Amino acid sequence: MMRLCLSGNRSMAVASTSRAGSGGVRASRIAASNYGAKVAVCEMPYSAIATDDAGGAGGTCVLRGCVPKKLFVYASEFREVFKDARGFGFDANPDVKQDWSSFLAKKRKELERLHNVYMSLLSNANVDFIEGRGRLVDAHTVEVGGKKYTAQNILVATGARAFVPKFEGSEHCIVSDHILEVPKVPKRLVIVGSGYIAVEFASIFNGLGTEVHLVFRQDQPLRGFDGEVRDFAASEYAKTGMHLHAGFSPVSVTKAADGTFNVKAKTKDGKEINLEGADYVLAATGRRPNIRNLGLEETGVKISDKGAIAVDRLSRTNVPSVWAIGDVTDRMALTPVALMEGMALVKTLFAGQDTAPDHADIATAVFSHPEIGTVGLTEEQAAERYGDLDIFTSSFKPMRNTISGNEGRAFMKVIVATDSDRVVGIHMVGPTSGEIMQGFGVAVKMGLTKTQLDSVVGIHPTSAEEFVTLR
Ligand code: NDP
Repeated sequence: MMRLCLSGNRSMAVASTSRAGSGGVRASRIAASNYGAKVAVCEMPYSAIATDDAGGAGGTCVLRGCVPKKLFVYASEFREVFKDARGFGFDANPDVKQDWSSFLAKKRKELERLHNVYMSLLSNANVDFIEGRGRLVDAHTVEVGGKKYTAQNILVATGARAFVPKFEGSEHCIVSDHILEVPKVPKRLVIVGSGYIAVEFASIFNGLGTEVHLVFRQDQPLRGFDGEVRDFAASEYAKTGMHLHAGFSPVSVTKAADGTFNVKAKTKDGKEINLEGADYVLAATGRRPNIRNLGLEETGVKISDKGAIAVDRLSRTNVPSVWAIGDVTDRMALTPVALMEGMALVKTLFAGQDTAPDHADIATAVFSHPEIGTVGLTEEQAAERYGDLDIFTSSFKPMRNTISGNEGRAFMKVIVATDSDRVVGIHMVGPTSGEIMQGFGVAVKMGLTKTQLDSVVGIHPTSAEEFVTLR
């Protein structure tokens, strides 16, 4: 989406090629409602179905990302709950049928409701909504559908889109936008990649009863996460029945006569696998900033080596009246980060306070099964930055799994910089890790020390209490 600010010295235009997303909506409505700025947002029309031009207020997170994904996560959990319930004496049937099309219909209805909520948020804040694709004409002008809008400031918050690498038959791959709309639960699914999106959808469809194959080129999934977390998560994924193919890069996807797909992948040393009969091949191979057809080149806005809009610490581009936030800047591609960047920008522009977004110690969760929650540094990063570390870990069977018969275990890790006693990283793999990590994220951000952590009395019986009893 391209957000535009309108003329006048308290004006901001937000331009969108496709989505009035999290960052753009937040920045525009706070600028308008809290600071009286005159703001217009442009955005493509809403569509529940993914197309290249699908738009709608709410953007990727609300319409094609975090929100529908989390609904899918919930849907994927019931079979295991029914199975676990048997351990507690219930005559529950884990093979019960799910009406997939009714679930999809409900999901669409909920997304439409949210889209309308976002539209109301904008109109209640007196933000003008301009439907169409925005394009910068010059440093103060955005054109939408042949009409020109001028503004003192222009915010580009156009997000990112799925990227599929080129290999033989890669055009047969679907991306996360599409997997959220598959007409039936696949029998067999091959997923390429092992980042957030890959492991989340692998867990979702595994939970829904699909035979899932995760094909990735590293030794372990989730590059960039703590090494022990990756090892533990991989072994837990395998326990749930997911097939992990570590060290493999895709070579080809071919369509068979029955309409299914065959995936060929190879290791660096030439070992080959053929995965046949996949209903879909999901490329979860990263996302790229939406920078095309925005008039950025013509306006002289600099693009970084990573293909993102280059911004300074205040989210300003090299063109002083043009600003950018969210995934299009490729700093940290997370919704709450885009919100923070939007809030900081509004303060800079309209409160007279230069405010740089703070990207340190941002807690995050991977909604795989099991879930992963993390804040701060990995052990590898901490060792490089601080040298001597004290590491505390625990692995245990969550109480619920003791009589359910569920084999799932949890893992916790606290990383302390020895010299300062500061807790520089907390990681968890296991049920509700994301919920648990939000609170610990606050503490780490506030400069938590291990001595302070040790002074906390636990809540019993919980999994989270383990964090305050690690010695
Ligand atoms: P990521 O960058 O996290 O992962 C991309 C994956 O694709 C990696 O495993 C990467 O492998 C692999 N890959 C890239 N190129 C190729 C290639 N040519 N051949 C084979 N494999 C390849 O991207 P995602 O798409 O998973 O997610 C994008 C971003 O969205 C995330 O970084 C995250 O910020 C955000 N997100 C956050 C969520 C959350 O907060 N829960 C949920 C979903 C997304 P390698 O590691 O070897 O490079």
